Amino acid sequence: MSVDEQTGLLTRLALRDRLADTIATTDDIGIIVFTAGIERHEHIRAMIGYEAMTEIVSGLGQRALAMDEITHVARIAPDTIAGFFVGDSALANDMMSRLHLGFEEHTKVTGGTISVDTTIGFALGGRKSSAEQLLQQAELALGQARANWRRTWLFSQSEYGSPEKKLGIMSELRRGLEAGEFDLHYQPQVQARTGAVKSVEALLRWTHGRPQQFSIGQLIELAEGTGDIRHITRWAIQRAMHDIEALNWEGYDIRVAINLSGQLICEDDFIAEMIELGGDQLHRLQAEITETAMLRNPDRALVNLQKLAELGVEISMDDYGTGYSSLSQIQNLPITELKIDQRFIKNLTATNRDPLIVRSTIDLAHALEMKIVAEGVEDAATYALLKAMGCDILQGYFIARPLPLEELVVFLKDTDGIAAKNDGPLLNFLTQLK
Ligand code: C2E
Ligand code: MG
Ligand code: MG
Repeated sequence: MSVDEQTGLLTRLALRDRLADTIATTDDIGIIVFTAGIERHEHIRAMIGYEAMTEIVSGLGQRALAMDEITHVARIAPDTIAGFFVGDSALANDMMSRLHLGFEEHTKVTGGTISVDTTIGFALGGRKSSAEQLLQQAELALGQARANWRRTWLFSQSEYGSPEKKLGIMSELRRGLEAGEFDLHYQPQVQARTGAVKSVEALLRWTHGRPQQFSIGQLIELAEGTGDIRHITRWAIQRAMHDIEALNWEGYDIRVAINLSGQLICEDDFIAEMIELGGDQLHRLQAEITETAMLRNPDRALVNLQKLAELGVEISMDDYGTGYSSLSQIQNLPITELKIDQRFIKNLTATNRDPLIVRSTIDLAHALEMKIVAEGVEDAATYALLKAMGCDILQGYFIARPLPLEELVVFLKDTDGIAAKNDGPLLNFLTQLK
């Protein structure tokens, strides 16, 4: 069977055969394979039904076929189509935007029209490429686009790296975790109004032997790909609960914010695991999640986050402003705090645009009864401006870098006397420290 019965498009196998024929008969010019996936397809299918979803997929296929360059299109997954065309990298670039624009238009389905978001992955091949490999690379590019929260992505072997090397690093990471080579550092968050520190963000550190070419952010991303993020998060929560108790002994009632990967939030046993790890102290944790985490599997994530919130865990939206969600979209989530991404804070005092964005985000968040945290506060001028704008909580190198537990205790002792009066003296104190 070479045709998908529901949409009339080719099957993956048939597309692969046509691709192999074209590679065999094409001379010097390259071949470009693309895959286009519908975002939030589960959600859309739940809303409009399976048949209308099939109509959408078929509509996208027809739109691709309407382009002169494209002669073959297949349905390769319930929500994904793929096709190819002959050309060079300049044409690939041109087609990236043309395809994306074409897919954005409204699609007619029985009962009305609908517009869907698509993500497109591309892979560039030539005479020596294998059809299967090119298709796989285009599928990987779709995944890379989604992981990077981009609409289009061209597969790059160097960025993808070698799978064996990545697996090697992950087994090293597992060993390091067991051997006690990891630590959590805590970055203080200052309440703008009072200058008090009531919360800290826990950030993972590989204290010895970390492969230097990878940052913590990149290691986390790798761990999400291999499933190791589960071990890491378990470890981090256990460590944080332990450190919270140590802080209590020192007389500090501090909330610890843990970064939670989207993958975990979407798992069925996520809540059971959190309860197991946090017990009756779970409410001392705060959870940081990102926009991407939410949008990938919104239904499951929503249920889990609601349960987590019911257990007393405050939920923050991390890196806000880097994705596509609007405040009106996230106001239905049990989120009590927005963390504006560092990129808007870094140049706050040097540009005209960022203060406008930050100011209006603060005002909108307050209208929705959410607190606002600014991260990446690196100097006194930014600190002062954010406070004047009504930002609730400030975090960044200007206040303190992420600190090992013992240094956090020293920091808390030093700021203790100053906090709770007002932040004028705190600002002076912090400025003197620099
Ligand atoms: P994030 O959650 O947005 O964390 C903030 C990052 O900004 C941290 O980088 C922190 O060290 C850095 N930072 C804080 N203040 C400043 C500043 O004033 N200037 C600049 N330039 N940077 C500042 P880090 O520790 O490298 O972490 C990177 C990312 O890795 C985190 O971004 C988070 O997404 C992830 N991550 C870290 N630890 C964990 C963890 O335990 N679990 C999970 N799932 N993700 C983690
Ligand atoms: Mg964070
Ligand atoms: Mg962040």
